[in-house]
Amino acid sequence: MGFNDTLAMPSSYYVATAAPWIECPALVGEHRADLVVVGGGCTGLSAALYAARQGLSVVLLEGGKIGWGASGRNGGQIIPGLRKGAADLVKTLGVERARALLGLAFEARDLVTGLIDQYDIDCDLKTTGHLLGAAKARDMVWMEVEAECLTTVMRYPYVDLLSASQARDQVDTPYAGGLLDRRGGHLHPLNYTLGLAAAARAAGVVIYERSLVVGLENRGDVRVRTDQGEVSADHAILAGDALLQGLCSRVNNRIMPVANYLAATEPLKDPSALIVHDVAVSDSRFVVNYYRLSADGRLIFGGGERYTPDPPRDIATFVRGHMEAVFPQIGGVPIAHAWGGLVSVTQTRLPHVGRQGEVLFAHGYSGLGVILSTLAGKLLAETVLGATDRFDLFAELEPPPFPGGVALRGPLHVLGMLWYALRDRL
Ligand SMILES: Cc1cc2nc3c(=O)[nH]c(=O)nc-3n(C[C@H](O)[C@H](O)[C@H](O)COP(=O)(O)OP(=O)(O)OC[C@H]3O[C@@H](n4cnc5c(N)ncnc54)[C@H](O)[C@@H]3O)c2cc1C
Repeated sequence: MGFNDTLAMPSSYYVATAAPWIECPALVGEHRADLVVVGGGCTGLSAALYAARQGLSVVLLEGGKIGWGASGRNGGQIIPGLRKGAADLVKTLGVERARALLGLAFEARDLVTGLIDQYDIDCDLKTTGHLLGAAKARDMVWMEVEAECLTTVMRYPYVDLLSASQARDQVDTPYAGGLLDRRGGHLHPLNYTLGLAAAARAAGVVIYERSLVVGLENRGDVRVRTDQGEVSADHAILAGDALLQGLCSRVNNRIMPVANYLAATEPLKDPSALIVHDVAVSDSRFVVNYYRLSADGRLIFGGGERYTPDPPRDIATFVRGHMEAVFPQIGGVPIAHAWGGLVSVTQTRLPHVGRQGEVLFAHGYSGLGVILSTLAGKLLAETVLGATDRFDLFAELEPPPFPGGVALRGPLHVLGMLWYALRDRL
């Protein structure tokens, strides 16, 4: 599927350790369903699963393979909440709305662990916590405010503010301190996604792969078209995230795809020397470094973004630079796999959730979609079934379009991102 295809997915650690999956056929001919879902990542699969569990007939169309979008290539970090912090949300929305919104977002964690449990999904789940490391001493100022707001205003008693030495007890790199969320953790994202797909299929969802939707009509009933087939339905859910491109005008100019890269080392001799209690870690830099251990003791490290469509010539070397800046002590460790993916970001860093007639959508989790995507899919299914109040909490916050529209959002946004990335280095 275009750009994403060039990002080395076939050589990812996740593909190399993927659970078995029976490939689905491509859509051919005319079909009818209550609901058609476009996109086979966690948003689409979760929406399809919950709708089918309530008795709707559901067809899901995936342009490539199930899980080969961001859902099957991400860092696997379970980070409760939203990309915008609690204190910021209170400032912009007031206490009540911020509490309702964040409370809903916090549900995502138990929703995902519950599904893993219910469907017995083997995806290396670890509920060991997530550490946000303070890259600079001044980050401790807002982290202190955030910890206080989460604990007292949001009534979320799971975060600890760590000093520099307490952070060092977690991870062997110098942070000025950090925020430890005890409800964070990590999982094997492709195997989680494939498990969700198997659950959806068992609930009656009919899945087609290699079925790229190229046309959408939205007049009363909805019709989506691939090059060999067509599905008409009462409702459609667009769950293509960064890869959706031009299907719906409301979506196009509100999300920005940013390429991000990961590497997995060979298994380390002593992985717990780097990350002592197996937490997932990300840092407070604008161009975030994020890393964790795999079930077989590798370091899975994400770092470095590029705002141009061409991937670096050698992804492993590109990520190694960032990895060795954090852990100079593992300099030269062999990298077994390196790959990339597209993160979709919004201007506000809050997801873009909404509807246009009977076409609903959710995307733009801004790097925090491992668990939020499953929640958003559930909210979309609830809305199709007539319960809109939880969906509305997100839909009311529609992010503004990127300035310059689709044509100019790239260059203008790149300038902005480069400025912030430069500030990281100063
Ligand atoms: C490199 C990387 C690292 C990340 N790390 C983390 C992390 O550690 N923690 C975290 O919380 N979040 C992380 N994220 C974000 C997270 O992965 C995403 O927010 C989430 O997976 C989005 O899920 P989705 O189902 O909405 O989209 P996707 O998983 O991208 O699925 C969309 C699917 O739709 C299909 N599609 C698109 N258009 C069409 C069409 N027209 N017809 C048919 N099919 C179509 C695509 O092929 C794709 O399979 C990361 C993302 C990336 C790229």
